[in-house]
Amino acid sequence: MPQQDFAIGVDIGGGSTKIGLVSAGGDIVARRRIVVDSSDGADAIVGRYAEAIRDITAAHPQERPLGIGIGFPGRIHPDNLSGNLGNIPALDDFPLAERLGELFSLPAQMENDGTAAGLAEAMFGRDRDAQRLLLIAAGTGIGVSLTIDGKPFITSGGGLGNAGQLIIHGTEGQPCRQGCIGCLESLASGDALNGIARRYCAEVPASALAARARDLGREADASDVIVTAFEGDPAARAMLTDVGRWLGRGAATWAQIFAPDVILLGGGLSAAGDMLLEPLEKEARACGLDMYLAPVRFSLASLGNEAGIIGAAAQIFLANKP
Ligand SMILES: [Zn+2]
Repeated sequence: MPQQDFAIGVDIGGGSTKIGLVSAGGDIVARRRIVVDSSDGADAIVGRYAEAIRDITAAHPQERPLGIGIGFPGRIHPDNLSGNLGNIPALDDFPLAERLGELFSLPAQMENDGTAAGLAEAMFGRDRDAQRLLLIAAGTGIGVSLTIDGKPFITSGGGLGNAGQLIIHGTEGQPCRQGCIGCLESLASGDALNGIARRYCAEVPASALAARARDLGREADASDVIVTAFEGDPAARAMLTDVGRWLGRGAATWAQIFAPDVILLGGGLSAAGDMLLEPLEKEARACGLDMYLAPVRFSLASLGNEAGIIGAAAQIFLANKP
């Protein structure tokens, strides 16, 4: 059997960082999960990451990685070695890729986490036959990435700029947490759905959603909306329909700019499955121009949480392609 290539994928997430050894076939053959404290300094974080990488490579001596790929939840600088505006302040503008690369004498680079997820779907997902694959990652925020012929299409910040901040509605001038006014993310992200759920529970304390939150002893959030909707609650289903419709307007707009043949819905909210995807697709087709929307296949992302690690490693495979 020919020797397979491997790469290390480092997926820096909200609550934790996942590090894995990934094969060129897209399989994660070993993994570690690391929780860093928001007060940790960059050197301490590098030390923790390096320990996990050493651990994994020592356990797999036959599988010498080609390099280290990092998925970073923020903007990436043009050198693909560092970024900023992520969720770990110590890593802002810190040359993380360079440091990890030096420690292991391996090439290392960094990409935006949304771009990583899109690349993973384009290389290894169910819809990998797509020529132009647009991924909408609806999680805490909304990330949008585009892969053309298997390569990430970058406009700025290591991705499609801030495409999730599509300006789409009127407000009383209230900025979103990123600072823009009237964006899609403020209507259709996990954060937005958390707010919708909380306001609804305050208004309708006798609802199934409010009862669930009381049972759990906390405020309702997007995950409760999804669970309650699966149980058949019409109010929770209506919330998902609304969010799906807003995402559909975004999808129609991005389709008219980028002409994708596949639009995937991923991220935490995609756990709602067809309850979110169906209104999304219906609204996109109703609102957008047929010449752009008719060729599009709408589908759920297929790699789930794994997409982050796989996509982080996949940038190394891409860099090594002849
Ligand atoms: Zn915004």
